[in-house]
Amino acid sequence: MQKIAIFGSTGSIGTSTLDVIRLHKDAYQVFALTAYRNCKLLLEQCIEFKPSYAYIEDSRLAKELTHQLSCHNSKTQVLSSIEDLGYLASHPEVDIIMSAIVGSAGLIPTYQAALSGKRILLANKESLVAGGSIITDAVKKGKAKLIPVDSEHSAIFQALPFEYESLASSGVNKIILTASGGPFLNTSYQELKSVTAKEAIKHPNWSMGHKISVDSATLMNKGLEVIEAYWLFNAKLDQLEVVVHPQSIIHSMVEYIDGSILAQLGTPDMKTPIAYALSAPNRIYSGSDKLNFLTLKELTFKAPDLARFPCLGLALEGLKLGGSMPAVINASNEVAVAKFLKDEIGFYDIPKMIESAMNKFASINVNDLDSLLNLDKETRAFCQN
Ligand code: NDP
Repeated sequence: MQKIAIFGSTGSIGTSTLDVIRLHKDAYQVFALTAYRNCKLLLEQCIEFKPSYAYIEDSRLAKELTHQLSCHNSKTQVLSSIEDLGYLASHPEVDIIMSAIVGSAGLIPTYQAALSGKRILLANKESLVAGGSIITDAVKKGKAKLIPVDSEHSAIFQALPFEYESLASSGVNKIILTASGGPFLNTSYQELKSVTAKEAIKHPNWSMGHKISVDSATLMNKGLEVIEAYWLFNAKLDQLEVVVHPQSIIHSMVEYIDGSILAQLGTPDMKTPIAYALSAPNRIYSGSDKLNFLTLKELTFKAPDLARFPCLGLALEGLKLGGSMPAVINASNEVAVAKFLKDEIGFYDIPKMIESAMNKFASINVNDLDSLLNLDKETRAFCQN
């Protein structure tokens, strides 16, 4: 029986993780669940999974949750101070953490779990994009295992040998990340100027939280994923390629030097990569629908359009510049997306805001978590103003 702490249990990834765990209650025990504001769903999850701890960010909601849990004779202890996220991620009883908080708020639990040698199921790409070597060094230091949950990175992980020294020693030529292209794949530049948040969050293939849905619509999600792949697989910049594949059936591919390409396919359902992250290198039932080739109409591919989707180009430029630039891109993107979701700015104001932040904050070396969190805060303040 392995004990798991789920950070962001009330979100899209968090609830899918609990769907998989529900099928394997004999193998995984929920130790902690965390939410930001969704007290109602967190209460339901606590009643069903009986974790030792529940965390909710707001102290008023924490009191309410404690009261509601006591009415159900629950023994779950409620925590709400920000340090508690780190405490839960490094708790000696925890074997596995699901890092599924959205945004750089996921940095602290991911970092603490890395230092404490946990098996980290990484959905929260923002922590690796912003943290880069700070996270990978913590993983090495703590002898943790970092396992991707993002469907693209899970596909690459599955197409690579389970343990390998380097991409070169495994005969890898390049990694090909597929992108659905999002809801605006065929929308013209003129039309994109006036699209709304409501339209942007209607992803054609995936059901996801609002922030990642907007990132998919701007293609920033693919930019963040290229940076994530760079760190996860210790890749070189010229080994990472993006191909638009609107059907989201091939989740990504690895090209080897002999010309072979290994791809991972499946229905677009996050339960598959979540199940593999839990059980790899073994396989467990995920509950997702099976792919039926006979009902697939076509699998198509094309190059991403960097003119209509400048966020992808900005992320690639940020990766080339290196140092703190991906952290600046991530923070400015988070502020811009939050503003776009509130209809305060337009679609193309997102890349404009990111570019302004990139011009304001030169790339520097940031080697520790405190400096990284400060830079994140400064970038956010700049973009808010
Ligand atoms: P959601 O918005 O659906 O869920 C986010 C979760 O994080 C919720 O539990 C939310 O709590 C919690 N949360 C939000 N803000 C904070 C905060 N400041 N402090 C603590 N907790 C917070 O997001 P998704 O599940 O879609 O995405 C989660 C992560 O996984 C993201 O990094 C995303 O990029 C990544 N990912 C998601 C995929 C998907 O299919 N959804 C696919 C691949 C990666 P509350 O509900 O109370 O607000």
